[in-house]
Amino acid sequence: MTRPRIFAVVNQKGGVGKTTTSINLGTALAAVGRRVLIVDFDAQGNASTGLGISRAERLMTSYDLVVDRVPLEEAVLSTIVPRLDIVPGDENLSGVETELAGDAHRSYRLKESLHSYIDRVEQGGLVKYDYVLIDCPPSLSALTVNAMTASDALLVPLQCEFLALEGLTQLLRTVEVVRSGLNPTLEIQGVVLTMYDRRNSLSDQVANEVRAFFGSKVYNTVIPRNVRLSEAPSFGKPALLYDYRCPGSEAYIRLASEVLQREKARAA
Ligand code: ADP
Ligand code: MG
Repeated sequence: MTRPRIFAVVNQKGGVGKTTTSINLGTALAAVGRRVLIVDFDAQGNASTGLGISRAERLMTSYDLVVDRVPLEEAVLSTIVPRLDIVPGDENLSGVETELAGDAHRSYRLKESLHSYIDRVEQGGLVKYDYVLIDCPPSLSALTVNAMTASDALLVPLQCEFLALEGLTQLLRTVEVVRSGLNPTLEIQGVVLTMYDRRNSLSDQVANEVRAFFGSKVYNTVIPRNVRLSEAPSFGKPALLYDYRCPGSEAYIRLASEVLQREKARAA
């Protein structure tokens, strides 16, 4: 059986577009027929809210997966997007670090949860996902390390703003630490430039710097700064449902096709 490909959307800076990318890339992949699961791994629960999941619906969350080893299927909710499901997140996640502190194997919790789900899929009756996207918190905490340990590859959103590259050394060091033990095959699928503003020369400057640093790891697709992307979550919808023709939605559709191309090239 083909396993799902598991991607963590990471950057320890807040507000760079992790959640927007998780939701809209997930939706774009679902729109072209893939089965997608988003794991909301941030205590702010923005991916859940942005997909229209109310607090009251979040009976089980990703917290229960990693702390109490609740089977993933008990926490999964379907969303308004066909083929896109979510394991919601809520503020309980902020306690994970402390709760798992005494467990030497704490970094494997999410991986174990996903893998045991994948094993049960083989027995039938459960949804077989093609892609899992883990929306990480803005930190290099135990949650992010769990996500990196569980993942095949990382998607790194970088905001086209002053100091975009700041903090990357720390991020890349964490990736190296994870590779040297917890997950030797962890790759970087790609770096996505977000909130690009063509009227601002700084945006171009940052984009050039990032391309100089990461080379071909940077996707050709650049996500523009687009108010429709920031409005959509307050309607509990991905931008692709709120306004599928806005520049932000179009960019995420192109990003999804680039992600799929890279996957195809990898498998070949
Ligand atoms: P993170 O998950 O990294 O903290 P978010 O995806 O939540 O970042 O984005 C931070 C804020 O910026 C949110 O209010 C979001 O709606 C907004 N935003 C994200 N991407 C864009 C964009 N390309 N254009 C305009 N607003 C954006
Ligand atoms: Mg977020």
